[in-house]
Order: sequence, then C-alpha cells, then structure tokens
Amino acid sequence: TRAALFQAQKMEAVGQLTGGIAHDFNNLLQAIGGSLEVIERRLMTGQGDIQAYVTAARTSVDRAKTLTQRLLAFSRRQPLQPERTDLKTLVDGLRDLIERSVGEAIRVETRLAPELWPIWADANQVEAALLNLAINARDAMPHGGQLTIQGVNIHLDATAAASETGVLPGDYTLLEVADTGTGMPPDVLERAFEPFFTTKPLGQGTGLGLSQIYGFARQSGGYVRIDSEVGHGTSVKLYLPRSHHAENLGSVPVKVPDQPQQ
Ligand code: ADP
Repeated sequence: TRAALFQAQKMEAVGQLTGGIAHDFNNLLQAIGGSLEVIERRLMTGQGDIQAYVTAARTSVDRAKTLTQRLLAFSRRQPLQPERTDLKTLVDGLRDLIERSVGEAIRVETRLAPELWPIWADANQVEAALLNLAINARDAMPHGGQLTIQGVNIHLDATAAASETGVLPGDYTLLEVADTGTGMPPDVLERAFEPFFTTKPLGQGTGLGLSQIYGFARQSGGYVRIDSEVGHGTSVKLYLPRSHHAENLGSVPVKVPDQPQQ
C-alpha cells in the first residue's frame, strides 16, 4: 500500500543517514581511542608529554559533537507539507535569488515547458532543493559557466518506473538543474547522496545538500538521479509526482523567500 511504501522510503532515507554518520563517528572514536591508548601507556610508564594527545582527543570529541548537532537539526526537520505547487510560479519567484547566489560569471537560463503539470510536493522543500543545487553548480564553476533549470512533463510507464526502486508508474514533472562545471569523478558520484559526504573544505560544505534532496524526493513519491561527466558538467534530475487535485481548486500560493536587500 501507499503508506507502507512511504514508510519504506522513509526507512531508506534514515538508513542512508545513519550509515553515513556511523562511518564518520567510527573514525572519530578510533582517533579518540588511539589518543587514549598513548595517554594510558605514558601515564603508566611515567614517561613523557601527554598534552598533544589530550588536545587531539579533545578535537575529535568536538568534531563528534558538531556531527550530532547536525544530525539533530536534520532529524528535527519540519514534516513535509505537500500541496499543489505550480513550478513556473516557484521558479520565476526564485530566479532573482538564484542569480544573486551564483554571481555574475554564471549565466542562468530557465526553460520551463508550457503547460507544465502542477506537482504534489512541499513547495518550501522544492525551493530549498533548487537553491541547494544552484549553489552546488556555482561551486563546480569557479570560473563561470552556465546554469540551466529545465522543467518538462514526463510519463513513466511500468517498465521505466520499475528501474527505480519504490517509484510508481504515472505522471511526473522532471525538474533538471544542469551546469557546465567540473563534473564528478565516479568515486564522488557514487557517494554524492551520502549524508555528510563532501569534497569541500571544512566550513564550506556540510555534505547534507544532496542527501536531503534525495530524502525529500523519495518521501514525495518521486526520485532523483545525477548524470555527470568530468570536465563537462553535471545534471541533477528531480522527478516529482503530478498533482491530481482538481485544477479548479486554484493553485496554492507559493511562498517566495524574503529577498535580501542589496
Ligand atoms: P556539499 O555541497 O555541502 O558538499 P552535497 O551533498 O550537496 O554537499 O554534495 C556532495 C558532494 O557532491 C560535493 O561536495 C561535491 O563534491 C559533489 N557535487 C555536488 N554537486 C555537484 C556539482 N553540481 N558538480 C560537481 N560536483 C558536485
């Protein structure tokens, strides 16, 4: 049933999340354990300085603390509030903010098919996903390039849906964010959806962007895939289910985030 499917998708996202964290946590615990071992040995033999090892252990504890705080913030996310969302309104409303976020060296092009189906998804999450993808695209194009946001209607038949676990056949809107940046090597592409996986310097990346988008897409009954080629660019394709709520209900207004004053 639909509810069981939803639960399975939720568990899948949670499983991904805990897997990534357990891995990072384990590394930190090993570092702390290693330092404690040296400290113990030195204390027993009354030999030498332990300060450096105390500092190292303390640093690892602080990192682990940051990790749990992020995890808590992640799990406290607002529950999804799916609504009938018009993507043209949403993308048009976000365009300014995206252009400002990526800077002048990057050309932003939006190509939305006419008569784009309304989707059934949490509009705030769609906006967050688009912004996140735009920032990732910017980071991949340090010398400028092109960012293209495309929207098309797509029907997945049983065969097409079967190739993605947990995806039902039906109507979807495909939202694609493509860049002409560095692309991802296979080892990065393989881990891109893993929570906390990042190749960015400390403080610049959280490694949560794509994993959040993945969780959101699955919980919305859609999915997300990445196509990337090193030296050419990356395309992230977000499939979101078509809204079947009566057209004459009128579209639910889409919230546009406050524009920062320039
Ligand atoms: P973050 O951006 O904080 O690192 P993400 O989960 O959004 O976290 O992305 C994980 C990693 O995937 C990035 O660190 C980067 O290596 C890679 N990546 C994501 N988007 C792109 C892109 N558009 N082009 C190239 N690499 C990307």
